[in-house]
Amino acid sequence: MRSLLAPLALAVLVACPSPEGDDPAATTTTTTTGLASTTETGTGTGAPTTTTGESTGDPCAPGQRSVIDRPDDLDGPQVHVVFARAIDQDDRGLDLDGSLAASVGVWNTWLAEQTGGQALRLDTCDGALDVTYLEVPHTDAHIAAQDPYIRNLLEHELAAAGAIADNKLYAVYYDGASTYSCGGGAWPPLIVGRVAAMYLRGEVPGSPPCLQPFATGGDPPGYLEFAMLHEILHTLGLAATCAPHTDGAGHTNDTPKDLLYSGPEPWYPDSLDPDHDDYYAHGDPDCPDLARSALLEPPPESPELPVGW
Ligand SMILES: [Zn+2]
Repeated sequence: MRSLLAPLALAVLVACPSPEGDDPAATTTTTTTGLASTTETGTGTGAPTTTTGESTGDPCAPGQRSVIDRPDDLDGPQVHVVFARAIDQDDRGLDLDGSLAASVGVWNTWLAEQTGGQALRLDTCDGALDVTYLEVPHTDAHIAAQDPYIRNLLEHELAAAGAIADNKLYAVYYDGASTYSCGGGAWPPLIVGRVAAMYLRGEVPGSPPCLQPFATGGDPPGYLEFAMLHEILHTLGLAATCAPHTDGAGHTNDTPKDLLYSGPEPWYPDSLDPDHDDYYAHGDPDCPDLARSALLEPPPESPELPVGW
């Protein structure tokens, strides 16, 4: 299932699988929606209804679409999940139907298994994953035409909407096209940024579609779970160029079982830095290491923030 897909890549340097570019003549719209200080409710189909100022008395109420970051359960560094779509893309309501919350739970559980108990600190509201909805004010085709810089556009739009907090990394599930990659990440210090993104409707020539099924609770991770975690690790600055098996562009090249592998072989991820020599628990204080990340919970002894934070 997850095995035949091409590895992911850094948005700026390489990329991963996706669709025939939509109509390249499609024009940019000037509609400016994006995030606003309202809460929307919706069923996941059609345009969401905005209910300005309406309060149910529970800002964490489940099943409601939110275009703002809800109250945080945690202080400090954390990963915030976003469901994003272009103005002309079908609204699959992945923020409302539990798909993203379940998938995120699966990849974070896998991470905890790999680390012996540490996982990423997730932004939750009253215990439930806080997923923000972002309508990107462009068409799907316009956004796809930004390849390989779709990640950059998404980060720009989040920032323009005032939705980037200085203690958060953003895991953006963008339900749109790319012909270059299934996702992209920042990679500090070369590419400083806070957005790790998946392009869910990507179709890269020669590779299966990016639109693979989301894992649900109890499932093992599939392609989309490994892929988002892969992009998040890039956005933390991993694997760094000091890693012994670096490919020089954020990946490892020793085994296709590695979460951060990229190379000629099909990607069969099942391990986090299998030999603990490249980016996790390698013990070299001079080389970036996920084990020292301030985004882990429980936190390491001397937590380190990503470069640029
Ligand atoms: Zn990559």
